[in-house]
Amino acid sequence: MPDLIRLLPEVVANQIAAGEVVQRPASAVKELLENAVDAGATSIKLIIKDAGRALIQVMDNGCGMSERDARMCFERHATSKIETTDDLLAIHTLGFRGEALASIASIAQVELRTRRIGDEVGTAIVIEGSDFKSQSPVTTPEGTSILIKNLFFNVPARRNFLKSNTLELKYILEEFFRVAYVNPSVAFTFYNNDKILHQVSASNLKQRLVSLLGNNYNQRLVPVEQESAIVSIHGFIGKPEFAKKTRGEQYFFANGRFIKNSYLHHAIENAFRELITSDSFPTYFLYLNVDPKTIDVNIHPTKTEINFQDIKSIYAILHSSVRQAIGKFNITPTLDFETERSISLSPPAEGRVYPQPEIRVNPDYNPFEKNGPPPSQQRNYTGPWQSLYDPLKDIRFNVTGNEDPEKQHVLSNWDELEDRQTAFQSIQIQNRFILTHTRSGLMIIDQQNAHERILFERFLAQMEKNSPIAQQQLLPVNVPLSAGDAGLLKEHFQEFSKAGFEISDFGNNTILVQAIPAGCNNNDIPGLIEKILENLKANPADAGGQAYIGLAKTLAKSLATSRNQKLQVEEINGLVEQLFACNAPDVTPDGKPVMMIIGFDELNRKFK
Ligand code: ADP
Ligand code: MG
Repeated sequence: MPDLIRLLPEVVANQIAAGEVVQRPASAVKELLENAVDAGATSIKLIIKDAGRALIQVMDNGCGMSERDARMCFERHATSKIETTDDLLAIHTLGFRGEALASIASIAQVELRTRRIGDEVGTAIVIEGSDFKSQSPVTTPEGTSILIKNLFFNVPARRNFLKSNTLELKYILEEFFRVAYVNPSVAFTFYNNDKILHQVSASNLKQRLVSLLGNNYNQRLVPVEQESAIVSIHGFIGKPEFAKKTRGEQYFFANGRFIKNSYLHHAIENAFRELITSDSFPTYFLYLNVDPKTIDVNIHPTKTEINFQDIKSIYAILHSSVRQAIGKFNITPTLDFETERSISLSPPAEGRVYPQPEIRVNPDYNPFEKNGPPPSQQRNYTGPWQSLYDPLKDIRFNVTGNEDPEKQHVLSNWDELEDRQTAFQSIQIQNRFILTHTRSGLMIIDQQNAHERILFERFLAQMEKNSPIAQQQLLPVNVPLSAGDAGLLKEHFQEFSKAGFEISDFGNNTILVQAIPAGCNNNDIPGLIEKILENLKANPADAGGQAYIGLAKTLAKSLATSRNQKLQVEEINGLVEQLFACNAPDVTPDGKPVMMIIGFDELNRKFK
């Protein structure tokens, strides 16, 4: 029997390591940017093509490499940053494993050009799937340029696993931000498909944050500052009233690198408790410095998770310093949960009124008859949008078919719309729920989810038919944005206009809004645009023919009336009516429930 255990060939070992270190183009970007920072660069250029699939290049003006080092850096466990295990503990930046370049070179075509400061000539190396193709002297600027082509060319499974370009670019942007937020003294330029996406010069931390996040952040950020023996903390938190509806701007850095830590995150959430609504997320950019001996960075291959020795004390210090910052800057909540903001749910454009179903009642219909007459005889809806909003479609389907019984229950209760209108006034409670009743029970509608459903179906129909219903602003509104946000928005102008926006590029990363879709709150256009951007980032629209469906969802989410909004009687009734005219009124486009019914049977049982 021969021995079975063999050492893996170096290339295979590298590819396995690559599986951990380089999951997608963004991971390669992270490693290259961090190497450039470690090399002491003061200016770094990132160049991406085809969301990193075709090309990723990072150019820096750092220390450069000697001829030998240029070759060595692609060897596994080759690093200039650690010599002994003591270094592992003493090193101030986070863990080095000498794995990144070896991994990347095993799954891509890599061209390195590097020259040390003071050297006459530099070195160029071409390596492909761990095979050295060439090494030669070259004239090249001081510093290093690493160019990665055709990532995963020899690992098709991984390549096929990549998501849409929009999504991959989003991941890359995120890595770029993480490095740029923690190295404000380094200038960065980020080119995507030959266009500048971000350009920031060396600056202080606040300027760096503001220039990447947008000028409006100038007034939103409050400094945090705390020195102690265990940890020193500095950075910024967002004022509570600007808390985000999506978890986005939450950054911890430890000893100069981005980290994730849900326990410490909780400390911040706790400090913000009662200052922001439960469905929003505080913004923070917090930089921790601890003695490197008290952290273990090597628990995670990409080094984003680290163990702190005295995490409980750090939690307490973090919590109190955030509290203090909130108190010191006297940022009491300006969010008034009772504020009345008027929304109008009925579009003003003449002749294009949102369809109110016209109802013809069948006089022979007997509600007490178990199975009722054939559904087609029960009632007819007519109106200009009948084909789009034909509730009968679903009712018929559900009454006769044997679909999901839950759904059937909800839908068959529709039939009692007229009862509700005449006998019972729907009411709003907690500025959030609408209470109404049907023949078989009490119906509770979530106003935001309901409005989301209504808007989604409306936008979808308008985008499909290119028949927008716009609501002009009295004065056009200018919205200044960051370059990245302006670019993202511009990609979708055309679809937006089909949904009722009149929106254009005002130059200088500013957009001009002249009209928004009818029936939507128009008090705070910049806020609205920001919501759209947040939703776009959270759910990037995929390319292709169906992209508009995702956009309709995004717009519906962004424009839907919120959970803290008082509605007038007509608005409540309008909402209920429009909801009942939808094709699938019981769920949001994302599948969240819109309504629930508590049956009278159940109520009877409860009160026995
Ligand atoms: P690590 O960063 O963990 O040391 P890498 O594989 O990322 O491992 O890099 C290996 C080595 O290559 C580094 O330790 C450094 O000496 C050298 N190196 C990589 N990128 C650069 C760069 N941009 N400028 C100078 N040296 C670099
Ligand atoms: Mg590295």
